[in-house]
Amino acid sequence: MWTGCYIFDVLTTWYDRVVKKTEIDKVNPPKFDKANDMAELTYLNEASVVHNLASRYMADMIYTYSGLFLVAVNPYCSLPIYSHEYISTYKNQSRDGTPPHIYAITDLAFRNMLEMRENQSILVTGESGAGKTENTKKVIQYLAAVTTPTNTTSELGTFEQQILQANPILESFGNSQTVRNNNSSRFGKFIKIGFSRSGQISGAYIDWYLLEKSRVVTQSPLERNYHIFYQLVCGASTSMREKFLLDGKVGDYAYLNSGQRSIPGVSDTDEFKNLMLAFKVMGFSEQEQTDLLRVIAIILHIGNLEIGEERSSGQAKLSQFSQVEKLCHVMGVPVDAFAKALLRPRAKAGRDWVDQSRTQAQVQFSLHALAKVLYERGFAYLVNRINEVLDRDSDGNMFIGVLDIAGFEIFEANSFEQLCINYTNEKLQQFFNHHMFVLEQEEYARENIEWQFIDFGHDLQPTIDLIEKSNPIGIFSCLDEDCVMPRATDKSFTEKLHTLWAKKSDKYKPSLFKQGFRLTHYAAEVDYSTEGWLEKNKDPLNDNITHLLSLSSEPHVAQLFADDAEGDGATRKRKGLFRTVAQRHKEQLTSLMAQLNSTRPHFVRCILPNHEKRPKKMDNVLVLDQLRCNGVLEGIRIARTGFPNRLSFAEFRQRYGILVTQGAGARGTQLARAASTGYVDGQRACSLILDALKLDKSAYRVGITKVFFRAGVLAELEDRREKL
Ligand code: ATP
Ligand code: MG
Repeated sequence: MWTGCYIFDVLTTWYDRVVKKTEIDKVNPPKFDKANDMAELTYLNEASVVHNLASRYMADMIYTYSGLFLVAVNPYCSLPIYSHEYISTYKNQSRDGTPPHIYAITDLAFRNMLEMRENQSILVTGESGAGKTENTKKVIQYLAAVTTPTNTTSELGTFEQQILQANPILESFGNSQTVRNNNSSRFGKFIKIGFSRSGQISGAYIDWYLLEKSRVVTQSPLERNYHIFYQLVCGASTSMREKFLLDGKVGDYAYLNSGQRSIPGVSDTDEFKNLMLAFKVMGFSEQEQTDLLRVIAIILHIGNLEIGEERSSGQAKLSQFSQVEKLCHVMGVPVDAFAKALLRPRAKAGRDWVDQSRTQAQVQFSLHALAKVLYERGFAYLVNRINEVLDRDSDGNMFIGVLDIAGFEIFEANSFEQLCINYTNEKLQQFFNHHMFVLEQEEYARENIEWQFIDFGHDLQPTIDLIEKSNPIGIFSCLDEDCVMPRATDKSFTEKLHTLWAKKSDKYKPSLFKQGFRLTHYAAEVDYSTEGWLEKNKDPLNDNITHLLSLSSEPHVAQLFADDAEGDGATRKRKGLFRTVAQRHKEQLTSLMAQLNSTRPHFVRCILPNHEKRPKKMDNVLVLDQLRCNGVLEGIRIARTGFPNRLSFAEFRQRYGILVTQGAGARGTQLARAASTGYVDGQRACSLILDALKLDKSAYRVGITKVFFRAGVLAELEDRREKL
């Protein structure tokens, strides 16, 4: 008997706890064991959801649906589920006819696009290490395979190969080893694959978001810088080393000097060879390759510049001239001009120009800023070049976009970067909630049943407004405003925020202990510390240096700073060339949301099973926490306000008709018995059976093709079946 036994022990195998009976969740009947779709569980509670995911995971079934979501748990081992046979199994199949899989979602998106002539998107989110990038790659591989007639990777057309090879390039420059993931993407991306009307891939385009620039100059002790630095230092040919004046090993470069220099099982030398191969497939010329790698070498040289201090004046000085010479040679700028721009930059004081004196700390700061901007602009250039190669959309006017972006980040210390990513996730969750509302409402209308569904998208609006609104002034606008106020500090900015929002919004609270605030996101309450926000948002550069770089004898370097060729910082600000980080992010996100809104979305939620990167081990508390943050439980909550369980008339009659034909004679009427066996049209038959079952009228609705049930009702019917 399944009723009466409880599964709270699934979650608490390691200790005993006494709980009230009312707090205990019920177990689903055996019919629902390892359910493919958790939305079909009749008891939709947290324990059942985790239990279902765990029992599937242990049986190597890493993919599970939860209503509109595909949940993917990282297996941390290679499973034989991505072969060509698998691709064939999913090709042109309906979602219900095959086990849950990333291929099923991709195929659905592909078919939807062709049949409805509607753009599609696949939104992949999750914590670091949960498997977003791996699943994104599977989506692209699947699309490349099913649109190539032969179905074999080795025979993919050049263009399909180029699309696939864009990835190792992006990973070299955009990924790094972190404590959570040996190949962690430190940027978000939206890859749009364009299709011709006949369904052939006709182009691709990559948008990117929030590259973690700070990693270029500092990494925590157990993490590395971006892969490309190590790959270049380990893998460059002798002639390339000579060209870039790179004569050291990894440990000789200050920017690569965290505790971590290599990744177990990964050869940076081999990865460099792979990168060169990928460059070749993309059709990048020798010169272009040199240009891209030159930027990396420049950054390594910047990191090794030693800055000293004049004892008498406290003025910064260059300690080792040979290092500056090396840097300037590779960077293509005159040494004297560079030293001057760095140590005594000219600035306007009223109407006059004066030479400013700089301290060691100020010079160090501007060098780090220079390294970061070089990396970011180099990355932007690289993605643009990839896009130029891939974006050859001729008649293709449809696309499938795949979004691979970090989920909610709630760390012990949360700063501006976390606010940007959490704001993005708040918007994406709102998008999901609204989409679910629209679909549910449509389904209810199609089936002509009475129900006013609630649009839970609105629930998130107050937090979103608080971050992005300009009137009343939200967090981003307030930050932008203070970034141009000469006397503003992080502290005054924080106090201003408190005055503006503390009494006005119940989603905002001043932090009690630190300088910062607490925001209520839908996933959790998050404390943000506002230390350093004005600098982070302004991203200030020494414009004497950037101007000098715009005149570099190396055309690629000059090109990266072309915008800085004219005028000083103030002039550029006037001309609208200056953007704060918050402004840029808000604009990019607005554009992303507009694109997503023009598509039919599909949602993939990746789950990290444990922190040890171990296969077949699931930490239930960790998983539950992610389900809370990533909207899966929110989706279930929304579903539960309506009629989450649906059966077609035929299914319902077949499974539950027996309740009125057998054993329940007293309850069943003559007519109902006939309905469950003889010919009566589906809708009427189901209504009759339901009447005979004497269910509460509010527990179900009879539609045009299906019967809808509130959560838990099917369990009661299953119970009755067992008792027959
Ligand atoms: P980040 O946010 O740090 O970029 P992520 O969610 O993109 O993380 P991935 O890089 O996709 O995480 O996955 C981390 C690692 O987990 C992979 O390098 C791989 O070893 C393993 N992994 C993830 N998904 C799968 C899978 N489906 N099959 C086999 N291994 C996987
Ligand atoms: Mg990733």
